[in-house]
Amino acid sequence: MDTKKFLLQENDIPEAWYNVAADMINKPRPILNPGTKEPVREEELYPLFAKELARQELNQTDAWIEIPEEVRDMYKIWRPTPLARAFGLEKALDTPAHIYFKNESVSPVGSHKLNSAIAQAYFCKKEGVTNITTETGAGQWGAAMSYAAAAFGLELAVYMVKVSYHQKPYRRSIMQTFGAQVIASPSMSTKAGRKILTDNPNYQGSLGTAISEAVELAMQTENCKYTLGSVLNHVMLHQTVIGLEAEKQMEMAGEYPETVIGCFGGGSNFSGIAFPFLRHKLTVGRNIRIVAAEPESCPKLTRGQFQYDFGDEAGYTPLIPMFTLGHTFSPAHIHAGGLRYHGAGSIVSQLRKDGLMEAVDIPQLETFDAATLFARSEGIIPAPESAHAIAAVIREAREAKLEGRPRVILFNLSGHGLIDMAAYDQYFAGDLMNYELSDEDVSRNLEGLEKII
Ligand SMILES: *Cc1c(COP(=O)(O)O)cnc(C)c1O
Repeated sequence: MDTKKFLLQENDIPEAWYNVAADMINKPRPILNPGTKEPVREEELYPLFAKELARQELNQTDAWIEIPEEVRDMYKIWRPTPLARAFGLEKALDTPAHIYFKNESVSPVGSHKLNSAIAQAYFCKKEGVTNITTETGAGQWGAAMSYAAAAFGLELAVYMVKVSYHQKPYRRSIMQTFGAQVIASPSMSTKAGRKILTDNPNYQGSLGTAISEAVELAMQTENCKYTLGSVLNHVMLHQTVIGLEAEKQMEMAGEYPETVIGCFGGGSNFSGIAFPFLRHKLTVGRNIRIVAAEPESCPKLTRGQFQYDFGDEAGYTPLIPMFTLGHTFSPAHIHAGGLRYHGAGSIVSQLRKDGLMEAVDIPQLETFDAATLFARSEGIIPAPESAHAIAAVIREAREAKLEGRPRVILFNLSGHGLIDMAAYDQYFAGDLMNYELSDEDVSRNLEGLEKII
């Protein structure tokens, strides 16, 4: 067996993030002020986000944005992350495909989320912010933001989707260990939460609802900003360190991926691995497929509509041009909590519309079949979210076998599943199920959307 792992040195950590919008011919449509329907100006974002993050959010001209020294120093704690060839999985599948994965599970909190959390905490701290709020689904983003807040001396309040608060109690403990305050959402602490609980007292929450609560608290707290772990352009930007490192590591491996795959919640880890490779397609016409793997139960890219929609349930955010299932869509309680989001970020949505990327949707049981095979062949237990990418890889590797051709596939292992073992337990007990949506389920929450496009 050849070398399995491709390792970089500290000084290979990228010095700039890659802003794909600068290289897109069809730029993403602007986000809109829901009151005036006019494009949101940078200053309008200042109450909610640190100024530098607001600037990054709207930047469609600079392809490279420098990573501050303080952020690179923090990245050094766990970056560069390894890229490995999955020989074990290839053997288990008896496939001629060459499968590589970038291992983001090695971060101190176990997922890619820290790449953006560190950057967001840094830019908040730099402009004198003292408090931040956020939401979290499965708890991965909350854990990352809690550590980042602690590292930069910020107070953090996290609204955690109620179903995950109970399904994944250890993620809550992790956030508390880092010093964050964690509130199950919907809660009675905000107007948005109280309204939802009054209408539906047993509602188990969604990311959309938790975002509404976190935004509301940020707006009411002095010197406080809101932070978001996915969907927004600046989050995708920060995550490109993943693909920029992987680009160098694939060179070390002496191969070029014909397909790049990431699982898809709001799009941050997918964008992180894929955009630096998409750059080759956009700038020098290289032939490459990028594929997002989303849950069958929350299929915004495969079955959603391209329309302006809110990022949150209550409608506090600007209107974002996105593939969406409707901001009131309530996804099934699958264990991949990080993928239970109704929409996709505006850049990814434009790429999807322009046929520059593909998407597949995967049933829950197939993701756990894939996760188990990967664990047994590679020795790493993947997060249920990441298992969607693995399932998509396995489909590709099986096609490669039918073709008898060594396709080169790269995927992002966005996180490990060591804190998701309750989900694995349920899978082994036969208690997990698939949640297929009818066309009616899909269209129900879309009907109420204002048709701006
Ligand atoms: C949050 C999360 C995701 C989904 O979010 P994206 O922004 O789409 O990447 C995927 N994998 C892991 C491990 C996560 O924590």
